[in-house]
Formats: sequence, C-alpha cells, structure tokens
Amino acid sequence: MARYAIYPGSFDPLTNGHVAIIQRGLKLFDRLVVAVANNPQKKPLFTAEERKALIAEAIGNDPRVEVDSFDGLLVDYVRRKGIHTVLRGLRAVSDFEYEFQLANMNRKLLPDLESVFVMTGEDYFFVTAQLVREVATFGGDVTGLVPPNVAAGLARKVGGPKP
Ligand code: ADP
Repeated sequence: MARYAIYPGSFDPLTNGHVAIIQRGLKLFDRLVVAVANNPQKKPLFTAEERKALIAEAIGNDPRVEVDSFDGLLVDYVRRKGIHTVLRGLRAVSDFEYEFQLANMNRKLLPDLESVFVMTGEDYFFVTAQLVREVATFGGDVTGLVPPNVAAGLARKVGGPKP
C-alpha cells in the first residue's frame, strides 16, 4: 500500500530548508502533498497561487509530489484528502515547542492524525522563510537559501540584491 503524507506550511516563499524536508520526506513516503496554507490574515508576500507555482516549478515534474493549497483548519483539509499523516520539519529547539503544541492540538481535533518530524541538516537550520523575506526586502543576496526560481520571484516582488 502506498504511503502518503501531507506537508503543510506557509511556504512564503519556499526555501531550500523546505526542499530538504521534501526530499527527506520522499524517503519515508511514496507520495507527498505539499499544501500551502492560505491565510490572508498573515499578510503573505506571495499569494497562495504564486507560492504554489514557485513550489511546482522548483520541484519540477516529480509525479510523487502534488502541490495544493487549503483554507481553514489543517485537520479539515486532512479529512478531505483522506491522508492522516502530516510531515513537518524541525530546525532547532525553538521550533519544538510550537510544533509540539500544534501536533497535540491537531491530534485533539482529529485523534487518528499522526505528525512525523524530520530534522533539518546543518546546511539549512538557520533558514526561515521570514528571514529570507527580510534579507530580500533589504537588498541582500538570497542565493543558496532558496531555489533559483524563488530568488527570481523575490527579485520581481521586492527588487533584486544591491550591487
Ligand atoms: P517558516 O517556518 O520558514 O515560515 P513554514 O511555515 O512554511 O515555514 O514551515 C513549514 C514547515 O517546514 C514547518 O514544520 C517548519 O518547521 C519547516 N521548516 C521550515 N524551514 C525549515 C528548515 N530550514 N529546516 C527544516 N524545517 C523547516
């Protein structure tokens, strides 16, 4: 039986840290749904459609990866998809507390939901989408932190790196 998991997040924008989690997730699961949370209250830099397009472009034509978006609660999306395993990444101790709360809240809302955590390697433990947005906004170079198409998308959105 094929093993499926949903990898939810804001992905505003996709970083190489996310890509590493997707690659490692594909060692554990046969198929992954990368699910962009559409939460306009968070005032994202990229719309959900733009974030989806950047992910699809960066991942390429991998038939094992579906890129989707959802509104509202993750547990409702999980129910709709019929995939009750959620993949998340852990960067540092600082992620642990929030992820622990979130996993337990999700399990309270949907008892048969399982969260699986993959730890980031030393290359990307410091990479957060928020920091990437800030660096790009102030003209810093994000090469190596995000896939090339995301760097180009950031340059279109906020202007390229300062010479
Ligand atoms: P961020 O926290 O960077 O804004 P998301 O909300 O999109 O990103 O995160 C989705 C999931 O990916 C979360 O579980 C988060 O901990 C994980 N993640 C994000 N960046 C990394 C990284 N550099 N290494 C490992 N996991 C990460």
